Formats: sequence, structure tokens, C-alpha cells
Amino acid sequence: MRVANVDGRLKLIVSEGSVDVERASDGKFSSDPQGAYARFDELRTWAGGVEAADEPFDSTTAGSPVPAPRQVFAIGLNYADHAAESGLTKPDAPVVFTKFPSSIAGPVTTVHLPPGSVDWEVELVVVIGKMARGISAKQAWDHVAGLTVGQDLSERELQRSGPAPQFNLAKSHQGFSPMGPSVVTVDEIDQPDDLKLGCEVNGEVKQEGRTRDMIFSVSELVGYLSKIVTLFPGDIIFTGTPSGVGMGRTPPQYLHKGDVLTSWIEGIGALTQTFVASDAKAED
Ligand code: ZN
Repeated sequence: MRVANVDGRLKLIVSEGSVDVERASDGKFSSDPQGAYARFDELRTWAGGVEAADEPFDSTTAGSPVPAPRQVFAIGLNYADHAAESGLTKPDAPVVFTKFPSSIAGPVTTVHLPPGSVDWEVELVVVIGKMARGISAKQAWDHVAGLTVGQDLSERELQRSGPAPQFNLAKSHQGFSPMGPSVVTVDEIDQPDDLKLGCEVNGEVKQEGRTRDMIFSVSELVGYLSKIVTLFPGDIIFTGTPSGVGMGRTPPQYLHKGDVLTSWIEGIGALTQTFVASDAKAED
């Protein structure tokens, strides 16, 4: 099953189009995209009986398929080659920070560049589908609703300033957490632990990796987090980025106005972010 958000309404993606869940279910399910994750098993059962699309799906007008998670986790240094390019040692336990939910945006957006050095980080995003507390890594996939594509946009100057790292704010500027276009359930993915992902700036490949190279796998991350915090349906985890970020290049490369960043994960989908100067008027 694939679910998406169009104009703030929950949509089921079928073949080349979509179905409005609230209307097609005669109100059995709410139109709220975030509400999908609280009743995810029921939604999947109902979705199994839906056959034809009733409207086209255009990802350029979609919002985030997870617009208002209660908690957003993000993992730093989760690929050895990215830890190395960052000049940091491979972690013994997951490095965890947050991206504040007000930074969440849809898959195709215009992003205003704040002052500083804005960098790209393509990431697999895990969406929780069932409350998880103190579960083992083996039980983890049973608690996952699905996967989507995310960008962990990061302003490196604030991130590295001061006596302690400022990851949370530096990665939470407006529009810094685009994701989508849909959340894809794991049964639709052949090898959920080995997905090819990458990103391009103005058509030039910057990152290309595979999720099998994560230091801590999706199962390990969900199990680890659940032993410390309660994970709720609709929470999300940005699982870390492979090598190829701008900060790790010689000389460093950052995003400028007019740049177009495309991020993708095989079998899941793609994002497109266009960057404008901070004083430019927003298109969306
Ligand atoms: Zn990241």
C-alpha cells in the first residue's frame, strides 16, 4: 500500500492515480493524513478491496505523507563512509537528534536559503505504525508502517557553532525536512534493508549509496530507540545519510539560489527541492 497527502487529505495511491480515503470509505477513515498511522492495519485491510483510482496523483502538489508526527528522530553518522568524510569516528551506539516538526514539507518544494552554508543529506525515512516500547530489533519491522524518502537539509555553520553541536536547530529551518511523495509499506519492497538511494544537484550526482551500508540497520534503530523512549504511530526516523555531502568535499560545496536538488530511493520515490534566496517570495 502507498499513502499520500494531497491538499491535507489522505489518499491511497493505486496504479497511476489516487483514491480519497475518507470519501471512498464513506467516512470510516478520517481525511487526516497523520491519522492513517493510528489505524494503519485497519486501513491496509480496507485498502485491499480498493480497485480503481478516482483521480490522478500529481506528486508536485502533494504534502508530506506524515505531516505532523509526534516525534521526529534523526540519526547522525550512520554510514561509515559519511562518518569518515565528516572527520568523525564510527559511533558505537546510534547518534540521535531531532528535526523539529515545523520543518516538515512535501516532496516538491521551494526552500528559502537561510544565511550560512546549506547542505544536502538524502535519507531513508522510517514511519512507525504501531506503538513500540522496549521491543527487540527482531520485532522492529512489525512496528513499521512503511518507508519514504527524506532530505535532512542542514545549515552547517549553526550546526558546528558554539561549544556543543547545534544539530536540532541547524536542521530545522523552514522546509528543511521535505519528504514523500508517499509512504510505501514494506510488503511492496523486495529488499527493505538494501535500498539504493542518492541525490543530484542540477543533474550532477552528489550522493549514491545503499541502505545495507548503514552502521545501525532500521531494525536496530527502532529497537534501540524503543528501549529509551516510546515510539508512537506516525513518528518518523531519518536514518542517516551516505557519503557525498557538500561539507565533506574539497573545497566544500553548498546550495545556492537557483539550485535544484533531486533525491531518490529506488522503489520508493523522489523529491525535488528548488532553492531561492531568503528574501524571495515563497511559491508554496
Ligand atoms: Zn542526516
